[in-house]
Amino acid sequence: MSYAVSPIGFVRSCFKEKFAIPRQPQLAPAARGTLDLLPPFDQGEAVQGLEQVSHVWLLFLFHQALEDKPRLKVRPPRLGGNQSIGVFASRATHRPNGLGQSVVKLDRVEPGRLWLSGIDLLDGTPVLDIKPYVPYADCVTDAVNAIADSAPLPIKVDWQEQALTQARQHGLRLNEPLVELIEQCLAQDPRPAYQTPQPERRYGAAFWDLDVRWHYPQPGRICVLDVVASAATL
Ligand code: SAM
Repeated sequence: MSYAVSPIGFVRSCFKEKFAIPRQPQLAPAARGTLDLLPPFDQGEAVQGLEQVSHVWLLFLFHQALEDKPRLKVRPPRLGGNQSIGVFASRATHRPNGLGQSVVKLDRVEPGRLWLSGIDLLDGTPVLDIKPYVPYADCVTDAVNAIADSAPLPIKVDWQEQALTQARQHGLRLNEPLVELIEQCLAQDPRPAYQTPQPERRYGAAFWDLDVRWHYPQPGRICVLDVVASAATL
């Protein structure tokens, strides 16, 4: 038996590639984007009342991680990438039906467009449904998850002077909190846990229309090296 679902809209996100996206929502409050609704949901009626809500659940497709053959076990980055657990014990992107869910902040509601922050979604993510967050039902104060019991400890992010100047300038141009976005995302240490970062190794990721490069001058510390117009947009 199968059921067909279709997107009600697509996310336009600060994240142009999977690498360096935080592993859950809310970890980078400066991560912003929009959800652009498709007809007929682009009419004001569909979002009427949503302005009374601070956060929404987005149910979406991990469209860049869809697989034909279902996995029963996954190796979550949270466990260092070398320990496997049942797929249903994790929030891994590789999962039956490729469904994701995130609670994100709803900053503004317009007919046809929701303005979001604290997102962990790739640009172009198809969204299947939106539901208002209901604090009394969704916030379980005595909930336990011994695999992921608290947010990962952030690591220290330093800047080369030139990179900080570039980020400030591009932040003004984009009208986005770019310095905060880069710091909040890199503080999550996007590097796969099994890689030992050598100081000479450069890492990079695309945020908005920019390529951000960094290295690890010593374990547990990041230094941002430059923030330049993305090769894709030149
Ligand atoms: N909060 C969601 C959940 O629990 O279902 C997502 C958790 S998942 C571990 C987060 C990761 O999904 C991000 O770090 C990013 O690399 C990846 N991701 C985000 N959007 C995606 C998409 N459309 N396709 C594939 N991977 C995506």
